[in-house]
Amino acid sequence: MSVLIFIDHTSGMIKKASREAISYGAQLAAQLGTTAEGVLLGNVAEDLSALGQHGVQKVYHLQHTNLDHFDAQVYTKVLAQVADQTGAQVLVFSNNTSGKALAPALSVRLKAGLVSGAVSLPDTSNGFVVKKNVFSGKAFANVAVTTERKVIALNVNAFTITTGTGTAEVASLNVDVPAPKTRVISKDKSSGKVTLSEAEVVVSAGRGLKGPENWGIVEELATALDAALACSRPVADAHWRPHSEHVGQTGVAIAPNLYVAAGISGAIQHLAGVNRSKVIVVINKDPEAPFFKAADYGIVGDVFEILPKFTEAVKKVKG
Ligand code: FAD
Repeated sequence: MSVLIFIDHTSGMIKKASREAISYGAQLAAQLGTTAEGVLLGNVAEDLSALGQHGVQKVYHLQHTNLDHFDAQVYTKVLAQVADQTGAQVLVFSNNTSGKALAPALSVRLKAGLVSGAVSLPDTSNGFVVKKNVFSGKAFANVAVTTERKVIALNVNAFTITTGTGTAEVASLNVDVPAPKTRVISKDKSSGKVTLSEAEVVVSAGRGLKGPENWGIVEELATALDAALACSRPVADAHWRPHSEHVGQTGVAIAPNLYVAAGISGAIQHLAGVNRSKVIVVINKDPEAPFFKAADYGIVGDVFEILPKFTEAVKKVKG
């Protein structure tokens, strides 16, 4: 019996969302009085023993040419074998793109109850009850998992990464790796773009920018700070920016080290998706804007004056 955490990676680097899942899985294992083990498929450039710092005791690293590219069918078959061989009772995924494909498939294969969109550790005082987001984040539900085996997909940025001093044992396993039924011919990634949910710095703007033609000053600050771009919901609803940039209760949840919000009022639904940011900087011309209550630093002023000055100052500091 153990907790098994799927460790997702991209371009050779472990995703921040997976570090959250590992931290979650490790705390869950401690709660259940069992061990936390990770499984990583494919090639990475990182030292996997260092994942012990997030509380995982062992990491199974499986390499095979058929695992070089993410393939939900192949990964599901391999992970099911890993779960069986290691006797995993609870499987933890991040509820990101790969987790959304793998967690349901694994739950069917392992006849395990599934909770996707989990936002906190289960209550195990009387059964196994997991709190999850429902209705696109508009409400929460507590779900009791009644099967012996369980699969949890943890919402991105819903859990804080814990860092300690542990070292994980890195091991392999003998599994049957099937050939994929599809083949990746090429991959095309728009260069220089930072993934919003994983970003350490996010620059976001709202209706205070007046229109899409004014986004140049937002993009310039984002470029200077190596930041991802975000926006409030009405901005995406009005098609000023793509919906993939909309943050908040019904959009992407983020937890960067720095969140700069320009011309955003700070409605509760917006705050719901950004309040895990470490440092929040708010620029708003209205000193009564609610966002200032959540801000670490507040600038009362016109975004059209402040943003270019902010960018200039960042460039000066960076040299
Ligand atoms: P506004 O409320 O119009 O605020 C614009 C701000 O810009 C004002 O504070 C104003 O003082 C300031 N401003 C104007 N001009 C300037 C200037 N020149 N310089 C500086 N400041 C200026 N919203 C989200 O963002 N994310 C969500 O996920 C989300 N989900 C929702 C879910 C539900 C069920 C509902 C009902 C609403 C949701 N909303 C969400 C909408 C939310 O309630 C707010 O309406 C929205 O966040 C407001 O966006 P805004 O701050 O850009 O615009």
